Amino acid sequence: MSNTREKTINYFNDLDTFARKELKYHGIKRNCPICGIDNQDIALPKAKYVFVKCKKCGLTYIKNILPDTDTFYENNKKYEEGWRNTNIQKTKELDPQEKRILKSVKNRGNLLDIWCGFGRTLYHFKDYFGSVEGIELNEYISKIGRDLFGVKITKDIEVLEDSSYDCIILHQVIEHLASFDLFKKVHKLLNKDGKVFIGCPFMDSLSMRILKQKHIHVQSIAHINMFNFKSFKAFAKKYGFKIESIKTDNNIDVRLSDFLCIKKGNFFHRHNRIRFNRFSSAIFLLTNFFLEKTNLLSKMKLGSYLEVVLVKE
Ligand SMILES: [Zn+2]
Repeated sequence: MSNTREKTINYFNDLDTFARKELKYHGIKRNCPICGIDNQDIALPKAKYVFVKCKKCGLTYIKNILPDTDTFYENNKKYEEGWRNTNIQKTKELDPQEKRILKSVKNRGNLLDIWCGFGRTLYHFKDYFGSVEGIELNEYISKIGRDLFGVKITKDIEVLEDSSYDCIILHQVIEHLASFDLFKKVHKLLNKDGKVFIGCPFMDSLSMRILKQKHIHVQSIAHINMFNFKSFKAFAKKYGFKIESIKTDNNIDVRLSDFLCIKKGNFFHRHNRIRFNRFSSAIFLLTNFFLEKTNLLSKMKLGSYLEVVLVKE
């Protein structure tokens, strides 16, 4: 078992044990965080956590959540451990999504990255925007980010001045939130012609259709909201935004080894035991090459992550 695989699996198991115990005694039930109603069907009936689908807006969400979801990311040691195991690379190279963001923002004044983690995106965008800053709840993470990347990372979003950002990024954030009230503030912070970029796991992706409850996206208490196109529209409308564009990335997110292991009891998406031989590696590389060249998954709206650009209504 490789060291990284072992660490990741142990990490998820620990978090899971903690969450299940907490939920049993202190879990709180919530209504649909978009519509506020209690009218849903069970989604993913075999999943570890009870995911339901709102009958009105189509959001798939965990019904019973941790009582301290809001402070969980700030001071939960189990959660923090995942970040301690992260290997941070200091490279200037923009990832494909960052390139897409850059391409669509014409007015590159002030940029805000909410829940910026170590602040790598801020570091990448430093030379492209007038100013960049981030919000991160966890002090351990933000300190490393400030020291390593030399970027401004603070904690309290409420003290930031309204109408002062041209670009606000929430990358892999929205799926973690107990309530979306944060977006009232995001709306205020945004300039009249500013843009909000949101990236999150996509409920209707090809990989979710194949793996269902076995997908890593729905394997922990961390991802409590899973969006599709319909629920995103309802969400944007509620918080006074208009969708400028909504698409999926081009990521298949299912390895060939996943296919081979899917039925096994110890299957763990992205971290299973089967090693690639040359033949299967070649097939995998060819498939990826084909998908990249054709942009097929994105065209078919089946990629693993949603990428949404919002503007003020
Ligand atoms: Zn709803």
